[in-house]
Amino acid sequence: MIIGTGKSKRLTEKIEGVECPACKAKDSLVAEGYQDFFNFGLPVFPTTKRVEIKCSQCKKFLNNNELPYPHNSLVMDIKQRIKPAVWMFIIPIIAAIGIPISLIKQSMTAKENISKINKAHKGDVYTFEVGDRLYQKMQIEKVKGDSIWFLASLNSPANKQNLGNNDVFEGYELTYTTTQLLKRNDDHEIIDIVQ
Ligand SMILES: [Zn+2]
Repeated sequence: MIIGTGKSKRLTEKIEGVECPACKAKDSLVAEGYQDFFNFGLPVFPTTKRVEIKCSQCKKFLNNNELPYPHNSLVMDIKQRIKPAVWMFIIPIIAAIGIPISLIKQSMTAKENISKINKAHKGDVYTFEVGDRLYQKMQIEKVKGDSIWFLASLNSPANKQNLGNNDVFEGYELTYTTTQLLKRNDDHEIIDIVQ
């Protein structure tokens, strides 16, 4: 169980018209707004808001006060626009309405999966439910337009405890559209996506 502080990126903005103090690349700075939250296995409540400024070229982080005038006010401006997500209050919500934690975890996984499905790329590994409590890992072999080709692991479908990590993806091939994957995810038939 994870106890401590979690962080969640709430917004990303390009900073225009400034060059990176380190590598001098123009328009390369990106500000990311984070909402930290206190985590007790699951999120309990949001805590600090933070802004990180990073150069997308040289990957260096800048101190918030390194931005030149008039861009230095941007940090405060972004901080004000960071909003906590409802799921950051999940434990109080569960406590208040008495929902089983496993259900909440399932729907949080499904929610996280959506952006991964929309940004599918070669090499991503999906764990699909293929039968009653039986799971099979599949790896994306190719993404073309709206079609996503998977290759199954040579390991036989297994229950969660027996899913190994020594998969070789040379099994049968399967093609999904993004819509079909989102539907399977919505039905909680994708229990894990590793990008
Ligand atoms: Zn730079």
